[in-house]
Amino acid sequence: MPYKKLSQEFANQSLAGKKVILRADLNLPMQSGFISDKTRLINIVPTIKFLQQRGAAIILISHFGRPDGEFNQKYSLKQILSCVQQELETPVFFAGDVLKASKECSELKDGEVILLENLRFYKEEEQNDSYFASKIATYGDIYVNDAFGCSHRKHASIHAITKFLPSFAGLLLQKEIDNVEKILSSKEAITCLVGGSKISTKIDLLKNLVKKTQNLIIGGGMANTFYYASGSEVGKSLCEPDYKDIALSIIADAKKYNCNLILAEDVFVTKDVANPGGCRIAKIGEIKQDEMIVDIGFEALKAIELAINASKIVVWNGPFGVFEKRPFNIGSETIARIIAQKTNGGKIYSIIGGGDVVSAVAASCLSDSFSYISTGGGSFLEYLEKNSLPGVDVLKINDDA
Ligand code: ADP
Ligand code: MG
Repeated sequence: MPYKKLSQEFANQSLAGKKVILRADLNLPMQSGFISDKTRLINIVPTIKFLQQRGAAIILISHFGRPDGEFNQKYSLKQILSCVQQELETPVFFAGDVLKASKECSELKDGEVILLENLRFYKEEEQNDSYFASKIATYGDIYVNDAFGCSHRKHASIHAITKFLPSFAGLLLQKEIDNVEKILSSKEAITCLVGGSKISTKIDLLKNLVKKTQNLIIGGGMANTFYYASGSEVGKSLCEPDYKDIALSIIADAKKYNCNLILAEDVFVTKDVANPGGCRIAKIGEIKQDEMIVDIGFEALKAIELAINASKIVVWNGPFGVFEKRPFNIGSETIARIIAQKTNGGKIYSIIGGGDVVSAVAASCLSDSFSYISTGGGSFLEYLEKNSLPGVDVLKINDDA
């Protein structure tokens, strides 16, 4: 379904004299009081530049941490103000109370930027409160959402606010939507790799992907529940016996929808994760009671490579082993290399999303070799699960929600 895009609507249009409320994800990770990663800020720079070039004044809004509806200096966005100025290469004003920023916003001149204090200092933000949203909406003429990582949340600054202003997707949100839609609407062969720790956290994802993909490769800890459900011994491995029936129903769905569900035939096992020297390769079915699965084996990697070779689009979420502990990163690193090589050779379009898998790929220094890395962990997964997101639905054309 088409949605309203800033880049399209205002490609050749001036925004001089207009004030744009820009919802960004400025929830920058902090360590010991310092910003440890500026990626989220860097990601919105193209939208800021786009707006400034057309003469708009920009009112930046965001949440920061979890202050649970109360003013708390620990969660003040003022902490990141100098960093924002530096990255945007522009002076940025600051308003210390979201609901009392009317004067500061009205005084903004074309091209100027103001950052409002943490939205979550008001409980109304997370309650998707219409009055709260309408009050913020009075500061601007147009609303732009560029916070993909927050768009799975039905919060006032993402959802309710769109009732009060003409609303558009920013450049980052547009890229993210277009990438997920590429997966969901593809007529070409798709291979999805889903790993990570537990099946219980990704049931809906697996259920939806089974209907849409040619190859669904399940790995990591969650694969163990599938081995268990099929009657194999998994020893001390991470396993969720209560999800046996779910695993069996996903296997049945795969048959129904003609999806080639691939599980590793061999894995690395160890008796003690802390002592990797004692690990060995084992076939599924030959795992001993005191062993645990920590990575996939070489036969499994060959099967994965074959599936990827036969695909045009490859989507990956969740590492395939306990990648934080060497050498159990080898399986995930090898998968990253296979995908990177095919991507660089122009054979596939590759997308990764999630938290840990993005870290695993970054640790292998291969991030630049993927076609697209989603900036939203939870929202990327929820979009793939439900074919939509609350924050995207409200930007759709002809949507009356
Ligand atoms: P993502 O953040 O990419 O969605 P998850 O959060 O679902 O991924 O899972 C990541 C975790 O899965 C990692 O901490 C990793 O150690 C763990 N994991 C992967 N394979 C196994 C395994 N065989 N046994 C236990 N944990 C595993
Ligand atoms: Mg994770």
